[in-house]
Amino acid sequence: MKRPNSTQDAPRARGRQCLPCTACCQGWLSADVLGHHMRAGHPCPHSKPEGCGIYSERPQVPCRTFICSWLVDDSPLPDWMRPDSCGAIVLLSMRWDDEYVISAVPVGPTIPDRTLTWLKDYARQHRRPLVFYERIRTDGRYTGLKRFGFGPPAFRDKVARHSADSGLDEMRLFSAGETPA
Ligand code: SF4
Ligand code: SF4
Repeated sequence: MKRPNSTQDAPRARGRQCLPCTACCQGWLSADVLGHHMRAGHPCPHSKPEGCGIYSERPQVPCRTFICSWLVDDSPLPDWMRPDSCGAIVLLSMRWDDEYVISAVPVGPTIPDRTLTWLKDYARQHRRPLVFYERIRTDGRYTGLKRFGFGPPAFRDKVARHSADSGLDEMRLFSAGETPA
């Protein structure tokens, strides 16, 4: 969450920095931030075009702890896949159900084809299943998420079962079942 946009932070090894991306402050991942429930259509009220408006006072969780897989030093994601450009916030190693998966959440209604194709190729090459999402809109408002699985048939079946069993109204940054690993 806009960590390296300040002299308070050491530059990342590959020289990447969040800004101008602010995707994880815009509600595309939901989280509670200082009493505000951030979710799709409800960005963090402290998010400004130039960065976090309360940068030095931003909370530890999620703001200082969350880091997407594009930003990490050894990221295999190419430059063009910065979340605000490629349309997805990606975590390449998420614990989901009982296994490690790639997780991709759209920045907007859906993940663009180019990004999804790259993620599927990566999933195939690394034999790691992919979980990705689309947003449901009702009367112009974001009202939920659909979850999809890409991987072996048994994995896709499991994702379909989970999605049918549980209401999916949002994607939290850190929830019991879906945590960055
Ligand atoms: S989504 Fe990633 S690159 Fe974008 S602001 Fe958040 S941590 Fe930074
Ligand atoms: S407090 Fe700052 S870093 Fe945290 S979500 Fe809001 S804008 Fe982003």
